[in-house]
Amino acid sequence: MTTDSSAEHLDAYPPSAEFAAAANGDASLYDRAGADREGFWAEQARRLHWHQPFTQVLDWTDAPFAKWFADGKLNVAYNCVDRHVLDGHGDQVAIHWEGEPGDSRDLTYSDLLAEVSRAANYLTGLGLVAGDRVAIYMPMVPEAIVAMLASARLGLTHSVVFAGFSPSALRQRVDDAAAKLVITTDGQWRRGKPAPLKTAVDEALAEGDSTVEHVLVVRRTGLDTPMVEGRDLWWDETVALAFPEHEAQAFDAEHPLFILYTSGTTGKPKGILHTSGGYLTQAAYTHHYVFDHKPGRDVYWCTADIGWVTGHSYIVYGPLANRVTEVVYEGTPNFPDEHRHWQIIEKYGVSIYYTAPTLVRTFMKWGREIPQAHDLSSLRLLGSVGEPINPEAWRWYRDVVGGNKTPIVDTWWQTETGAIMISPLPGVTHAKPGAAMTPLPGISAKVVDEEGNPVELGETEANGYLVLDHPWPSMLRGIWGDNERYRETYWARYAEKGWYFAGDGAKLDKDGDLWVLGRVDDVMNVSGHRISTAEVESALVGHTGVAEAAVVGASDDTTGQGIVAFVILTAEAKNTGDDLVAELKAEVSREISPIARPREIHVVPELPKTRSGKIMRRLLRDVAEGRELGDTSTLVDPNVFEAIRAGNA
Ligand code: ATP
Ligand code: MG
Repeated sequence: MTTDSSAEHLDAYPPSAEFAAAANGDASLYDRAGADREGFWAEQARRLHWHQPFTQVLDWTDAPFAKWFADGKLNVAYNCVDRHVLDGHGDQVAIHWEGEPGDSRDLTYSDLLAEVSRAANYLTGLGLVAGDRVAIYMPMVPEAIVAMLASARLGLTHSVVFAGFSPSALRQRVDDAAAKLVITTDGQWRRGKPAPLKTAVDEALAEGDSTVEHVLVVRRTGLDTPMVEGRDLWWDETVALAFPEHEAQAFDAEHPLFILYTSGTTGKPKGILHTSGGYLTQAAYTHHYVFDHKPGRDVYWCTADIGWVTGHSYIVYGPLANRVTEVVYEGTPNFPDEHRHWQIIEKYGVSIYYTAPTLVRTFMKWGREIPQAHDLSSLRLLGSVGEPINPEAWRWYRDVVGGNKTPIVDTWWQTETGAIMISPLPGVTHAKPGAAMTPLPGISAKVVDEEGNPVELGETEANGYLVLDHPWPSMLRGIWGDNERYRETYWARYAEKGWYFAGDGAKLDKDGDLWVLGRVDDVMNVSGHRISTAEVESALVGHTGVAEAAVVGASDDTTGQGIVAFVILTAEAKNTGDDLVAELKAEVSREISPIARPREIHVVPELPKTRSGKIMRRLLRDVAEGRELGDTSTLVDPNVFEAIRAGNA
């Protein structure tokens, strides 16, 4: 069930002539990639420096385990750092780092090279060798990026774990990867206060034997920190004193670069494995075209945390491979107040800003006066990732943040895809509020039904599945240690066709443009109609009083599933109780259809979210159906349920 897609057709934003004139991309990319996909990817791979050039492109003979550029050799860190210094850009700022308490630090490419080299020398001295795993459990400090790059430089496989996760979540990940080293900080700044972090590592490692030999600790807060003799080491007494030159060695294109666990939005997190050459190729390619990035001119800011894949591909690997100058911010958007992001944009003249819909909706909730109090004219491109962005938020983002002129790239991808897959190309294609639009050049996607038949354009039921019908360079190479789960999760559903099943629902509108409708697991079935959570949420957020909404299908004796909505109100809105609920129900009926009318609407103070800002609908479904909560290990704040249950009573 969806709204009439003729409205979607009228709502397209074509690229402006001015943006198009200087854009990195042009329409010929689609033609070239369409005519020779592998040749196109080989061309993109040559953005990188190969110590040994590849002669093969794709090897899919062992599908679904891909090899890309398999006989080539490269060093990922060399590509992100050394070559820019060798090309004469050593003095260019790589990272404008902004600490939460107001301290800041600029690192040039020369600085970064020295730091990464020191860390590489010290880690080698510790006895780590290529193939070993390193867990990185750090807040957004420059040393976290240095640690990732130093690992990459040595062929160590890193596993970054959100610094907000619990000791047991850390322990699970350390054990799963059998990590030998944990890199952490003494503590982290959270809303003006230092909170201990290293003690969480101690707690994680306290019970039973672990594979961890050393814990390397960066001093960030100065908190009193107990150290375990023989195991724990201070970064400033070791790495910081190491020799600042190191020669990078080349590794196979398929050498494992990192393991990263998915957000856990739909279930137990999966350890997604990525390798080197193909991953870096697509991260760099997409960063160049999707963000229209111009090295030496743009100031780029991706607000993600490095504990999330967006931080890997669009703070560390893609941008640095493209010689970015970027902002890295340690703290929350409302410390010391809600002006923080806009002040940072003004301070550094940020031109490209990439964030998540949840934050855009939070900004909306805080009010437009806040961004409007700042000069945001340096911004020329905005991006969104992580969830479908509802049209209301898209328009607000463009008008209020983008001065009604910037293109917005709504980028669909996953931890598993490694890099952006579906997005408008700024200056090349048009965009529509709420739509991810079309696969990038070189990428192929389909929207199909249960049997694999293409869905009709303009189909109004939410019964399309998003599949990827050709391998791509940055695709996952498996789930760490669990090939069976890899096949089962992604390849079993369309085994005969050989397609990758993304787990997301989607539709194509009358123009053939693609709309992501949220998780397949979240699609609701009401009286035989398949209804997307994203669309009902979007209709609710369309009401001026609603800041955020989460919708789930709860089992219902008469309709199969009944729609249960949880909404957060805007600061100005008055909770008129039953009147408001009736108004909201009517709004959904009007916007979508009477079938999509929620059975219940609960006004709640907060929604359960993962650390990457996604709503955990599966937990709300547990609440709506009165069950015990499932895996909550990746939830930001388990206390939200007390408030939600109170509102639900
Ligand atoms: P898990 O797989 O453990 O349930 P997760 O899917 O939330 O966790 P991620 O890999 O971080 O983990 O998120 C990828 C998912 O985020 C996509 O499958 C999709 O559902 C959603 N997503 C990302 N970007 C977009 C976008 N631009 N539009 C719509 N949905 C998006
Ligand atoms: Mg997922």
